[in-house]
Amino acid sequence: MDYLEGLNPEQKAAVKQIQGPVMIIAGAGSGKTRVITYRVAHLIRSGVDSFNILVLTFTNKAAKEMRERINHLVGPEAKNIWMGTFHSVFAKILRVEADKIGYPNNFTIYDTDDSKSVIRAILKEMSLDDKLYNQNFVYNRISAAKNNLVGWQEYQNNDQIQADDFSSGRGMLGKIYETYANRCFRAGAMDFDDLLFKTNELLKNHPDVLNKYQHKFKYLMVDEYQDTNFSQYLIVKRLAAVNENICVVGDDAQSIYAFRGANIQNILNFEKDYPDLKVFKLEQNYRSTQNIVNVANSIIANNKDQLKKNVFSEKESGDKIKVMRAFSDNEEGKMVADAIMHQRTTKGLKWTDFAILYRTNAQSRSMEEALRKLNIPYKIYGGLSFYQRKEIKDLIAYFRLTFNPNDEEALKRVINYPKRGIGDTTVDRVIVAADKNQLTPFEIILQAPRYVEKAPASLTAFATMIQSFQVITKNLNAYEAALHIAQHSGLLKDLYEDKSVEGLNRYENIQELLNGIKEFSEREDIEERGLDIFMQDVALLTNDDNDKDKNADTVSLMTIHSSKGLEFPQVHIVGLEENLFPSQMSLNSRSDLEEERRLFYVAITRAEYKLTISYATSRFKFGTLISCEPSRFLDEIDAKYLELDFTAKPAPAASASYQDERAAWSRKPDAFSKPKPAPAAPVKTTSILAKAHIPSPGFKPSDTSNIQVGMEVEHERFGFGKVISLEGNKPDIKATIFFKEIGQKQLLLKFAKLSII
Ligand code: ATP
Ligand code: MG
Repeated sequence: MDYLEGLNPEQKAAVKQIQGPVMIIAGAGSGKTRVITYRVAHLIRSGVDSFNILVLTFTNKAAKEMRERINHLVGPEAKNIWMGTFHSVFAKILRVEADKIGYPNNFTIYDTDDSKSVIRAILKEMSLDDKLYNQNFVYNRISAAKNNLVGWQEYQNNDQIQADDFSSGRGMLGKIYETYANRCFRAGAMDFDDLLFKTNELLKNHPDVLNKYQHKFKYLMVDEYQDTNFSQYLIVKRLAAVNENICVVGDDAQSIYAFRGANIQNILNFEKDYPDLKVFKLEQNYRSTQNIVNVANSIIANNKDQLKKNVFSEKESGDKIKVMRAFSDNEEGKMVADAIMHQRTTKGLKWTDFAILYRTNAQSRSMEEALRKLNIPYKIYGGLSFYQRKEIKDLIAYFRLTFNPNDEEALKRVINYPKRGIGDTTVDRVIVAADKNQLTPFEIILQAPRYVEKAPASLTAFATMIQSFQVITKNLNAYEAALHIAQHSGLLKDLYEDKSVEGLNRYENIQELLNGIKEFSEREDIEERGLDIFMQDVALLTNDDNDKDKNADTVSLMTIHSSKGLEFPQVHIVGLEENLFPSQMSLNSRSDLEEERRLFYVAITRAEYKLTISYATSRFKFGTLISCEPSRFLDEIDAKYLELDFTAKPAPAASASYQDERAAWSRKPDAFSKPKPAPAAPVKTTSILAKAHIPSPGFKPSDTSNIQVGMEVEHERFGFGKVISLEGNKPDIKATIFFKEIGQKQLLLKFAKLSII
C-alpha cells in the first residue's frame, strides 16, 4: 500500500475506513481534500468499480484537479468517476430523467440573468411597487424557498410565511413565485436552484429512479460539506440511504455561504442521521507556517459559534504577518505590486506563487492597475465568465432556441437581434397571446397571423428559420452546426460589420467560441460530441473553466469566496477596513459578523509561507472618496505575530492617487465625510493600528506664509494632507486641508504645525 505513504496515521485511517458513514471536520490545510483524493484511489485499488463512485466538490476546478491527482494514483480508471459540483452532477442526471417530472430532457438552464429577467417581466405585468418588490429581493426570496425545499404551493399555504409577507407589505410574493415557476416550466427551463430542487422532487416521487442511483453510487464523498444547503443535504442523504457509504469532510470555521442558505445544522444532523458514524480528527496543518496558523487560530477564537478543534503546524515559525498601511486604494495597489515584484526578484519565485484576495470584486481595479504598471501578468478568477458576455450569450441563445424553441428568455433575447423589425409591442402581444391560449410563445409565432395583431412577416420567418436550424443541425457535427447558425442567423455578419474596437473584440470572441466548439467536436475521449451536448451545461461554466492557458505564469486575483480550498505560497489580503471587511451589511448581527470572520479565516489559511495584509485610509466607493478606518479584525490578531509597515509616504503630486482624489474632489467638494460606524457594532477606539501620526524624521514646522492651494503638507499630528482652500487675510488665514488619515479639517495657519513637502 505504498500509494498511501503520503498520509499521516489519522488520514490513513480515514482513507481505509471505506465502509459506513465517515465524517472529518477539521481545520484548514489539514488534508481533508487530500483524504478524499486518496480515498477514491484506495477504493479503486480495493476493487470498487470506478463507475460506482460519486464525489461532490465545490467548484469545477476542484473536481478537475482532483481527477488529475487520482489519475496519477490509479491511472485512466479515474475517468469513470462521477465527480463535479452538485449543480453539474445533478444537471447531468436530470438530462436523463427530466421527462419523469414533466420536463423535456433538453431543458434549458436559466442563469441568474435569465431568472431575473423573468422576474422583471412578472413584476411589470403585475404593476407592483418596485421598491417593495425589488428584482434581486424577489429572486433571493424564491431561491431561499427552493433551497429549503418550499415549492410555491407550500409557500402559499404556509401561515407563517404568509403572515411575514403580508406584514411587510409583500403579500404578492407567493403569487410571483407561482407565476415564475410556471413560466420556467412552460419554457422548459430550470434555474440554478431548480437543479437541486427538482432533483429532490425526482428522488422523492420516483422510488425507481432513487433506487437506480442508490445502487449506482455505492460510495459517496462530499468536500466542503459545511457549505451545503438543506436541498443538497437531503439529496446526499437520500442517495446514501441504502449503502450508507458516505464520507463528508469540512470545516465549520470555513462556512461562508450562510447567506445562500448553507447550514451548519447539516454537520450536526449528520451525527444524528448516522448513529454508526466514524469521526476522524485531523489536527496537523501541512499548508502553512506556525505564525500563519497561530494568527488564523487567534482570529477564529473570537467566534462563539464553533466546534472546538486543535490545529497546529510543524513547519518553521516563518515570517511575521506584515500589515501595510496605504493612503489610498491606488497606493495600496502600488504597495502590493511593489511587494510582489520585490519578493519575486529576491526569492526567485514564479508569478503563480502569489495571490491577491479581496472581499469584493470591485477591489480588483486598483490592484490590476498597479500590476499593469509594473508589467506583472495576472489572471482574475471568478470574474465575468466568458459565457456571460453579450455576444456569446446572443449566439448561445440561438443554439438554445434550436434545441428548445420554448426557451422564452432565449427567444426574447434574439427575436429582434440582428434587427428584423420585430418591436417590443409585437413581442408583448406574442406573450399575451401565449398566456391566453395556453401555448408557448414559439407556438404562437409559428401561427402569428392567427394570434397576433399586425404581425410582421418577419415574425413567422423567424420561427421558420429556427425550425430550419433544427433540421439542418441534425446532420452536422457541433462545429458545423454552430457555424451554420452563426452565419444564417445574421449574427456573424452584424458583428463583422461593426468596425469599432468593441465590435472587433466581440467578433473575435465569437470566433473563439467557435474554435472551442471545434475542439469539442474533435475530442476523442467522449462519445457524444453534438452541439446539443456541448450546449447542455454552458450556463454552469465559470470563467475558470474557459481557461485557455492554464499553465501561464500569472499572479492570481480573486475574491475570498472563490479562494476556498486553494493554496498559494504568498498571499496578500487587501482592504482590511471597517465597512468593507467586515462588510457594512454584516455589522448588525453577531452571526453575520461571525461569517465575515470565518471569511477572514479562510483568507488567512490560503497562505503557505508569507501573508501580507493591507488597508487604505481612503478609498473610492461609488465614485466618491471616503476615509476608512482599519478593520476590527486587525485588532483581533495578537500583536506578537505582526510586523507593521507604516512607512508609506503620500505619493508625489503627479501620481494617480492624487489625481483621482482631485477629480473626486472637484466633482463633490463635501465628499470626504467619514463613514458612520453601524449602530449595533461597537467600534474599538483603542487600536494599535489607528495610532496617532508619527512625524517623518526631520519634520520641522515651516513658515506657512507662502502656502498655496494644492500644496501637499505634513501636520505634526494629523499626518499628510493637501490644501483645499484658503480664506481670510494675513495673519488670520484659515486653511482647509484634506488629511488622508482623518479627513477634512480647518486650521488657523499661524498656529498650525505644518510643513510643506
Ligand atoms: P482546506 O480546509 O483549506 O480545504 P484541506 O484540509 O482540504 O484544506 P488539503 O488541501 O487537503 O487541506 O491539504 C493542504 C496541503 O497540505 C496540501 O498541499 C496537501 O497536499 C498537504 N498535505 C496534507 N496532508 C499531508 C501529508 N500527510 N503529508 C504531506 N502533505 C500533506
Ligand atoms: Mg480542502
